[in-house]
Amino acid sequence: MPNPSLLILPGDGIGPEVMAEVRKVIAWFSDHRDVAFEVAEDLVGGAAYDKHGTPLADATMARAQKADAVLLGAVGGPKYDKLDFAVKPERGLLRLRKEMDLFANLRPAQCFEALADFSSLKRDIVSGLDIMIVRELTSGVYFGEPRGIADDNEGGRVGTNTHRYTTEEIRRVARSAFELARKRDNRVCSMEKSNVMEAGILWREEVQWVHDEEYPDVELTHMLADSGAMQLVRRPKQFDVIVTDNLFGDLLSDAAAMLTGSLGMLPSASLGAPMENGRPKALYEPVHGSAPDIAGQGKANPIACILSFAMALRYSFDLGDEATLLKGAVEAVLAQGLRTPDLLGEEGRDAVTTSEMGDAIVAAL
Ligand code: ATP
Ligand code: MG
Repeated sequence: MPNPSLLILPGDGIGPEVMAEVRKVIAWFSDHRDVAFEVAEDLVGGAAYDKHGTPLADATMARAQKADAVLLGAVGGPKYDKLDFAVKPERGLLRLRKEMDLFANLRPAQCFEALADFSSLKRDIVSGLDIMIVRELTSGVYFGEPRGIADDNEGGRVGTNTHRYTTEEIRRVARSAFELARKRDNRVCSMEKSNVMEAGILWREEVQWVHDEEYPDVELTHMLADSGAMQLVRRPKQFDVIVTDNLFGDLLSDAAAMLTGSLGMLPSASLGAPMENGRPKALYEPVHGSAPDIAGQGKANPIACILSFAMALRYSFDLGDEATLLKGAVEAVLAQGLRTPDLLGEEGRDAVTTSEMGDAIVAAL
């Protein structure tokens, strides 16, 4: 078997800064653990536009299709704001998502003990929290046809969007959720509005079908999305994996993000269909953007990107122990009191730089 391959796309703004810290972590793993990656690096976003006149060169696209996992920093920045829509940095990322057909967006919400008081919620609600929201990303009301704004022939206008899901669209994202659950606490909660929406009825039936036929060993529950939203804020630790559609997932994953504190802590993954080797196509990236306001100042928190790499270890490379080790190292440096500025809030303590944070995590490893 060839070594697993990782394609790194640092991108723009703080992307290259946080990725430099991930490279230190990767170097540690190849020096100290029996894990050999083929690591390649390429350009995306504004950086690719500067060199090739396009935010994602065809050759880069082809490398991404072949890689076992792609790890992306961030794209965009004020320098590129005036570019034509077709070559905007964000288009590079959209092309990757579309051509890799990444239909399952994974957003973990995990609370590190040392940050439990930093969250906007009470410590006992978030302490020990570790849940995963799986959002369907390529269908539903954001894409359904017909859509548009038209005259209603009575002097007013009517805006239309169509909330539409097919059997196969639901089944494939359900499979992603059940696969993940097997690598976690083996529980899935599916959320929809089957009380008022036909697409919600189909969603519930098809998720149940995938469960009964293919994943009977995983515990499955169903919840209406409004009550799910309430439960997510009231008692989030009751969940393991939540699977939901594009619209509800958009809202629920942003709400869940606030359970944990800073944007600088949040990793994500987008998964597609299984490849020949059985692993899903996968793109890992921090939730945050290129943060032009702090780029080049050593203020960026590298943890979101480092935890995105930890997700790659677990979900693309089957290196769950290594992922746990890396998360433990992050927990340890936070427990030591190390904080980048985004984790300090109003506190007057001294902050560490991006690279000091990365070095500390490697030392903790
Ligand atoms: P995009 O449109 O690319 O999502 P955005 O403007 O919505 O970009 P970000 O670039 O993520 O959002 O920045 C939002 C705010 O969060 C900024 O003030 C930024 O400095 C801060 N921020 C984002 N990422 C980090 C990080 N890794 N460390 C510290 N602060 C961050
Ligand atoms: Mg944003």
